[in-house]
Amino acid sequence: MTARPGSVHLIGAGPGDVELMTLKAVRALSEADVVLVDDLVNPDVLKFARDDALITYVGKRGGQPSTPQAVIFELMLTHVHAGRRVARLKGGDPFVFGRGGEEVQALADEGVHVEVISGITAGIAAPASVGIPVTHRDHAMGVVFVTGHGASGDTGNREPDWSALVATKMTLVIYMGMRRLGEIVAALLAAGLDPQTPSAAIAAATRPEQRHLRAPLERLPDAVKAASLGAPAIVVIGSVAALGDQA
Ligand code: SAH
Repeated sequence: MTARPGSVHLIGAGPGDVELMTLKAVRALSEADVVLVDDLVNPDVLKFARDDALITYVGKRGGQPSTPQAVIFELMLTHVHAGRRVARLKGGDPFVFGRGGEEVQALADEGVHVEVISGITAGIAAPASVGIPVTHRDHAMGVVFVTGHGASGDTGNREPDWSALVATKMTLVIYMGMRRLGEIVAALLAAGLDPQTPSAAIAAATRPEQRHLRAPLERLPDAVKAASLGAPAIVVIGSVAALGDQA
């Protein structure tokens, strides 16, 4: 007897608040035999999984390196070949700095089709949670989602061209920017961005422990340090950051 074909759903779990998950994400999660969970996923969303589902955490915790992509990939392949329905849960949207693209490609190379279920990305949800409209038409022609992770780690030795980004005059929304915030702000100021540009940092957005602050760009790193605001956080730079709830 051949096993029924398994399946993989790559699911965006949204930024934290369980109610920001899509209906489609909840349905796919509730049908899964196996759930592979990244670390930015709010564990509360697992209430939608079946009681008998096999739940595996593959994200990094407490500074530990995350499970290597190759291991996660092998795990998915094993479950699919055994005929299981796999739900791969990622924080936010799986294709926005979530490595979802890599996983889809690797599985496609093995003939496994992946259904992608979009999620609400932190770069939209975090600013919105404090009333910042990232593309308010009086302020910005667009928004740039950029990683601040930069030089170290597994993104290689790449660094965004901060001068080019400043030249766009668009709202900058920086993911993974907290650790190198000082360097990033220095690069933006060196590129000619006005030191008074409104900026905001929003941590743990849409979760009960959410905190945020606003400061002119030149003061942002110190303000973040003084408030001990840490990851995960989204940094918003641009005049839209002055809009919304004041804090
Ligand atoms: N795929 C995710 C992003 C993964 S990269 C998404 O679409 O949202 C991880 C980064 O996302 C974090 O370093 C942080 O910058 C941001 N992030 C994720 N969840 C967040 C949250 N609840 N609040 C603030 N930032 C968050």
